[in-house]
Amino acid sequence: MNLTHEEQAFREEVRNFLEENFPKDIQQKARNHIPLSKDDHVRWQKILFEKGWAAENWPLEYGGTGWTHVQKHIFAEECAQAYAPEVIAFGMRMVAPVIFTFGNEEQKKRFLPDILASNVWWCQGYSEPNAGSDLASLKTTATRDGDDYIVNGTKSWTTLGHWADWIFCLVKTGGPDTKAQESISFLLIDMQTPGVTVSPIITLDGRREVNEVHFDNVRVPVVNRIGDEGKGWTYAKELLTHERTGIARVAHSKVRLRDLKKLARSTPSGDGTLAEDPIFRHKVADIELDLLALEYTELRTLAAVSTGKAPGPESSILKIKGSGIGQLIDELYLEVAGHHALPFVPEQFDMAFCGDFVGPWYAADTAPHYFNYRKTTIYGGSNEIQKNIISKFVLGL
Ligand SMILES: Cc1cc2nc3c(=O)[nH]c(=O)nc-3n(C[C@H](O)[C@H](O)[C@H](O)COP(=O)(O)OP(=O)(O)OC[C@H]3O[C@@H](n4cnc5c(N)ncnc54)[C@H](O)[C@@H]3O)c2cc1C
Repeated sequence: MNLTHEEQAFREEVRNFLEENFPKDIQQKARNHIPLSKDDHVRWQKILFEKGWAAENWPLEYGGTGWTHVQKHIFAEECAQAYAPEVIAFGMRMVAPVIFTFGNEEQKKRFLPDILASNVWWCQGYSEPNAGSDLASLKTTATRDGDDYIVNGTKSWTTLGHWADWIFCLVKTGGPDTKAQESISFLLIDMQTPGVTVSPIITLDGRREVNEVHFDNVRVPVVNRIGDEGKGWTYAKELLTHERTGIARVAHSKVRLRDLKKLARSTPSGDGTLAEDPIFRHKVADIELDLLALEYTELRTLAAVSTGKAPGPESSILKIKGSGIGQLIDELYLEVAGHHALPFVPEQFDMAFCGDFVGPWYAADTAPHYFNYRKTTIYGGSNEIQKNIISKFVLGL
């Protein structure tokens, strides 16, 4: 990509800012594959907020950056290089655009400043035990009672629900005769309201990241509904299609692949190192070629978006290829760690761990990471669903 003089200067500015402001302790954790705490994320997001760089997709009038698509791309690349975590999406990139697009002035004033400053944390209550890909079949009800709704039901797979102060939910407000899509409303619910309980779902990596959220006669003021009753599906779709930069996570995969090759150079194999093993080299080369092709596809999409074309079903291609490549890289990390990836010693992820590491330092995280990142082909619309989109809207089948 040929950057203009201004874009090159912007890259330098971002790089210098990260060098001077991204906390070294968080960087060390991220580099050593130690999971970040809520406090780590909040601290970093508040630093971005102070700089005016927290909300890259918001309009300037609400405190957004006003960046071009190329600037957003540069920012994502530089953050990946520095191991800086992406801003957690639920508040900043999901509910905020719905609030500033469809919310009333009161709601904008009430919610946007605290999202921008990372004072209040959000989670997403779309999926339910029997409503994932087929989201319109959700069952959580919100029954009108004066100035309140009474909410009952269960949301599932709620990422970071245990960190959240608020949840944005799709709920059924129509009766049984209403068409599925026309009976859904978009509600904002304070997680402290009596009747809301959060229970953990422990994932294959042994950690808590997702939850079930239960609503038992939860009273939610009607003023917390975004837009019109029964129009929630329209707002939800807007949220899902809201421009997502970095969906392919190319920059992130490039850094992981670079680090992997470095580790392979110090991993014994036969008479030499794994980096010299022809089969391993072949696998790395295959992924590198795919990643390069994906990068060009991403840049082509970026070029189209920069000239005003809406990002269309191409984002499905980016998601399928990007998540697949990420998972192939995870498999190679397992190969580098070898049998050292087998023992599960969670204490090794504690910064204060004083015991002996099982195998090389990076080995402890390879299996948990591999298991956790199976999620990328499921969440945000599973890859099978993305393929349906491509077959319908790109191939016209
Ligand atoms: C780690 C993780 C975090 C998540 N975080 C959140 C969150 O914060 N908030 C939230 O609301 N949701 C969240 N989700 C839920 C996620 O969006 C759903 O898991 C996803 O939409 C798939 O739905 P499902 O799990 O019900 O699977 P199902 O829809 O039951 O699908 C099962 C399988 O069948 C396939 N399939 C289903 N329908 C079709 C079809 N028509 N054609 C072809 N194949 C099909 C699917 O691709 C999948 O392989 C998260 C999920 C995971 C795994």
